[in-house]
Amino acid sequence: MPTSKHESGKSPKVLIPEVKLQARLTELAHEIAADYRGKEITAICILKGSFIFFADIIRKLDQPVVCEFLGVSSYGNRKVTSGEVKVTLDINEPLEGKHVIVFEDIVDSGLTLSYILNMIKTRQPASLRCCSLLMKPDSMKVDVDVDYVGFKIGNEFVIGYGLDYAGAYRGLPYIGYLEHDH
Ligand code: 5GP
Repeated sequence: MPTSKHESGKSPKVLIPEVKLQARLTELAHEIAADYRGKEITAICILKGSFIFFADIIRKLDQPVVCEFLGVSSYGNRKVTSGEVKVTLDINEPLEGKHVIVFEDIVDSGLTLSYILNMIKTRQPASLRCCSLLMKPDSMKVDVDVDYVGFKIGNEFVIGYGLDYAGAYRGLPYIGYLEHDH
């Protein structure tokens, strides 16, 4: 079990346990596999937060998958969105004519995903869809369609399973939250 305490001394509470996460990932993978039967998927992992979700879900897909990694930074060390998205690592391979699925950790205001999708559209993929492990429907500020959603959650700031707070907690095997800190 990874250490769960931050130097602040706070222990995270479990919001979505590991077993529930993995079961939902299997369902999502089946949905995606059914929609893309006979096609090669170009799967884009949005770094950093999606890396664990991405590694788990692509191993549940049973068709050919090409993996690409796109680094974006939108929050810095804060808990509120700046609305400003910075590309920290770009994809060098052409996406033209590819069936692209963007894998995101969480959609909050929707600004980051909307920025990413617009950027990828300009590279002329044959198709473009997105899959987010988590979504906060009450926080959405822009109209962005998320094709595959793992879990809809409230407005709480969540950590674990790839998601951080100031760089910490990414290694937790579950989605958690910090009590009295949001
Ligand atoms: P949006 O642009 O939709 O407001 O924010 C999306 C990005 O903000 C996510 O990719 C994620 O990096 C970060 N984010 C949004 N909500 C949370 C949260 O509850 N916890 C963490 N750790 N990051 C979040």
